[in-house]
Amino acid sequence: MKAQVAEAILRAQNILVISHKDPDGDAIGSILGLTWALRKIGKRVYPACPDAVPEIYAFLPGSNEISPLSATTQDLIVTLDGSDATRFGDCFAAELVADFTVVSIDHHVTNTRFATVNWVGPTYVATCEMIFDLLPFLGVALDSRIATCLLTGALTDTRGFRTSSTTPRILKVAAELVEAGAPLAEITDQVFNNHALKSLQLWGKVIESMDFSGGLLWATNTVAMRRACGVDRTATNGVVNVLATAREANAAILFTERDDDKIEVSMRSRPGYNVADVAFRLGGGGHPQAAGCTVDGPLRQAVGRVLAEVRASFDG
Ligand code: AMP
Ligand code: MN
Ligand code: MN
Repeated sequence: MKAQVAEAILRAQNILVISHKDPDGDAIGSILGLTWALRKIGKRVYPACPDAVPEIYAFLPGSNEISPLSATTQDLIVTLDGSDATRFGDCFAAELVADFTVVSIDHHVTNTRFATVNWVGPTYVATCEMIFDLLPFLGVALDSRIATCLLTGALTDTRGFRTSSTTPRILKVAAELVEAGAPLAEITDQVFNNHALKSLQLWGKVIESMDFSGGLLWATNTVAMRRACGVDRTATNGVVNVLATAREANAAILFTERDDDKIEVSMRSRPGYNVADVAFRLGGGGHPQAAGCTVDGPLRQAVGRVLAEVRASFDG
């Protein structure tokens, strides 16, 4: 598969590299890691994402070049870290597969194989790890810039190499990335120890809203709460992981009310409790221990519906 992906990339000259809505460290890290790699072999690369780069990833080289582009004159689209065509918002539409070669590089077990060439690797802990594996096939030598981008995705998708998805292999890859010049401690500080005070204020409100029943812990993040704290939706990135530390919880679920009445659902679970299946059934996707979906509001109904689905999924 790697060879097929590399072949498609090497054949192209103008390449659109996109990742998913509400980008995380693996989305931004894989866009930029691949962008810098392809530029080293003379490709013209357009890094794109439907949503703005969160402030905590602005330190990554090239982050200022990421914009909400969609394909026009390019001869290849590469989608990263997204399991279905809707994940890329306005940057991509499923129909584009008729007119463009589309390469999907993704590590979600729920991937729908929406592209022309689908490299789906659920054993990889991050899409950034897949890009690392692709470099020799592209004839690109690792350098500190690429390593910094790729280590960011590996770090954020494993929450600092602490999740059950963490493999011996990613620890070896991380060692190589650090050897190549990726500053591990600096990246850790940038992505994990970098919350605005008003974001933590929102975390307080979210944690105060939590509710617990039958092994499930859930909390809400409403438009009104964010308005009261003067923050946007990205301010709660990470709080679901705090909820998931509850000793009593098998799974933690954060419901984020968007201003268009849709509800973002973010789920974390302990090993033995799979949330990817239920997220997929609800139109989303993810990994066994970290998954998400977007459902219709209003909030109260969405909470009831999703909790019932999660319970049914765990019981079944
Ligand atoms: P999050 O809770 O946003 O950190 O996401 C956890 C995992 O689920 C990530 O791998 C996401 O890519 C995936 N995910 C979150 N929301 C969705 C969605 N609406 N559709 C598909 N996958 C999602
Ligand atoms: Mn992601
Ligand atoms: Mn990922």
